[in-house]
Amino acid sequence: MKHTAFRPVDPALLAPAPRAGVLLPLPLAGAYDYKLPKGTAVQRGLLVQAPLGPRTTLGAVWGEAEGSVGDNRLKEALPLEGFPALPEKLCDFIDWVANYTLTPPGMVLAMALRGGKAFAPEAMRTAFVLGEARPKKLTPARERVLAVATDGLARAVPALAQEANVTTAVVRGLIEAGSLVETQLPEFDAFPAPDPGLPCATLNDAQRAAADALCHDVRAHVFAASLLDGVTGSGKTEVYFEAVAEALRQGRQALILLPEIALTVQFLDRFAVRFGCRPAEWHSDLSQKERTRTYRAVMKGEAKVVVGARSALFLPFRDLGLIVVDEEHEQAYKQEDGAIYHARDMAVVRARSEGCAVVLASATPSLESYVNATSGRYAHLKLPRRHGAAVLPEVRLIDLRHEKAESGTWLSLPLRNAVANAVASGEQAMLFLNRRGYAPLTLCESCGHKMTCRDCSSWLVEHRYRRRLACHHCGYETATPPKCPECGAEGSLIACGPGVERVAEEFKALFPEMRVAIASSDTLHGPAETQAAIRAMAKREIDVLIGTQIVAKGHHFPQLTLVGVIDADLGGSDGDLRARERTFQLLHQVSGRAGRAEKPGLVLIQTRNPADLVMQALASGDRDAFYEQEKLYRERAHAPPFGRLAAIILSSHDGEAVAEAGRVLAKAAPAARGVTVWGPTPAFYHLLRGQTRERLLVQAEKTVDVQGYLRAWLGAVKLSNKVRVTVDVDPVSFF
Ligand code: ADP
Ligand code: ZN
Repeated sequence: MKHTAFRPVDPALLAPAPRAGVLLPLPLAGAYDYKLPKGTAVQRGLLVQAPLGPRTTLGAVWGEAEGSVGDNRLKEALPLEGFPALPEKLCDFIDWVANYTLTPPGMVLAMALRGGKAFAPEAMRTAFVLGEARPKKLTPARERVLAVATDGLARAVPALAQEANVTTAVVRGLIEAGSLVETQLPEFDAFPAPDPGLPCATLNDAQRAAADALCHDVRAHVFAASLLDGVTGSGKTEVYFEAVAEALRQGRQALILLPEIALTVQFLDRFAVRFGCRPAEWHSDLSQKERTRTYRAVMKGEAKVVVGARSALFLPFRDLGLIVVDEEHEQAYKQEDGAIYHARDMAVVRARSEGCAVVLASATPSLESYVNATSGRYAHLKLPRRHGAAVLPEVRLIDLRHEKAESGTWLSLPLRNAVANAVASGEQAMLFLNRRGYAPLTLCESCGHKMTCRDCSSWLVEHRYRRRLACHHCGYETATPPKCPECGAEGSLIACGPGVERVAEEFKALFPEMRVAIASSDTLHGPAETQAAIRAMAKREIDVLIGTQIVAKGHHFPQLTLVGVIDADLGGSDGDLRARERTFQLLHQVSGRAGRAEKPGLVLIQTRNPADLVMQALASGDRDAFYEQEKLYRERAHAPPFGRLAAIILSSHDGEAVAEAGRVLAKAAPAARGVTVWGPTPAFYHLLRGQTRERLLVQAEKTVDVQGYLRAWLGAVKLSNKVRVTVDVDPVSFF
């Protein structure tokens, strides 16, 4: 802290106001200096209201003031009364994420302050309890109200009326008579405490060993990372629940991260079966109120277990004892806009900052985690078998070059027969195609014109039931035109290739007697419809479920014995470094839906490349053969995790400005040992939401300080302010 030149005569009177660097939740380069009221301790994380221009904003004391602006010119930030400071470990985590992802620290702080109205003064609720006075007139309705109130719980008027089955007027009458008296309740109900003492499943030996290792880590109160590597249905959830139980026994908090799509009522109910109540939730569907309630309870340490999507990683836990990242290989953990970060990687960082245990769980780990586990950096906990009688399904390849289906059809004869057999035996089947809608491309037969998006360089996908063409990138939609917009030919537009709707159409024509539903993660179908299809499948109200990747994960359908993959070659060859890994993971997960109970499962995969490594690994069930090959391949290519990547994406409505910025940036790239800069090249979707996009890619040896390199480079060039520069460290998407 800087000192004034004068020695104050009377310290109590003349002591300067303390000064502090305050981080504001805005895209600024660093903290701003403020003075604090006299007597305030400069504590990192202290929440303050800071004046900024004409308004005030919430901020956090981040450290000492850095500037030398005179006290009289510094504005005063006021500490937020009644709220604990952000935990120091969270502040460290925010700095780390900002530094690693090259995001302004204020933007990361903003993610940690997204608590709805959590920082507004806590409102109270008016409620009523039994009073001394007995009412003069005691009607049956009044008696019912008083009977409800005898348990001593405070209730609001509508709740009392509802429980006693009377009108609110009856309740008000009792209030007037003094038989019910007013009291104040906190704004929100407290979260119930999950009970680790309820009976857990009887774990088998492999599960017990894994659970013991994790509980040991939780008790140790130090950073420890594990990969819980278990085949689908092996009981990974049961195992990490025991680690959660251990954290609860220690009186600490636990965070379970799930890909948003897996955050279902089923999961919450399963948690409730083990722990007696549902956990607190954190995801984008929460209302403002729920958000406020959860955030406050986490901040005060009252919410013991939070189940959430990636953003839950930035909650202000008081005392975190465990982080679980379930389905850790999921790409959904990568946040692709705003602050670009990978929640799985940052979960490990947060655990390190908290000094607690972190568990990554998957049946098909990311190659990064596989390498970390096999090299000994993470503990490798294996669950090689399904629990109980269930066995892994048999996987067979159907060579589409020999089983040529009629043109415009997608179901080969062996697949059709297998579905018919399964359903005839009273079992269920699932057909998987990772493509939404009816057809991925609509083409004019007479002029060859392809229907593309107005704002993106992508094809419009036909959704036949709604007679619409839709862009799956920006959401642009238009009615399917009656004639070609290019040449004007009538009725010349034809559908090319299959989507789930088209496969369903073919299927229904072949098997009109079967009960079929479509589940597609579609803006046009909506989550309610998808949930309904999945519920119908679980209740055996349908025989066959046809779906996109939304059906691939997590679901447990005991009677499902046959899985058919319509086109395994989709998305396998787009030059993306993880394309093979993703295909393997997705198809393995889909296969894992078959035969999860007593009856064994069969998986039929239609492919034109049966000799491909991915297909061979799926058919032989030798997962690690695939990982070892893939590891070698990446090692040779100096690709992650053996080398480092960072992408720079330039985008603008002004295409010429983007091209120019790309040239300027490439020319300015500093030469450095172990660093190669590629590009600029047009992004895969050169036009996206009306923005022209170019990419540069930095490839570096493992030992290079990529962040330092990027900072030096980007700090030294001045680009047109029309162009937006986005840095993506460790990119997983190359679009
Ligand atoms: P994973 O998360 O590895 O896919 P789950 O934890 O969902 O596996 O377990 C698959 C199914 O097996 C679930 O229905 C689960 O309740 C059951 N299960 C797993 N382990 C046990 C056990 N030790 N005792 C009883 N049921 C178990
Ligand atoms: Zn579009």
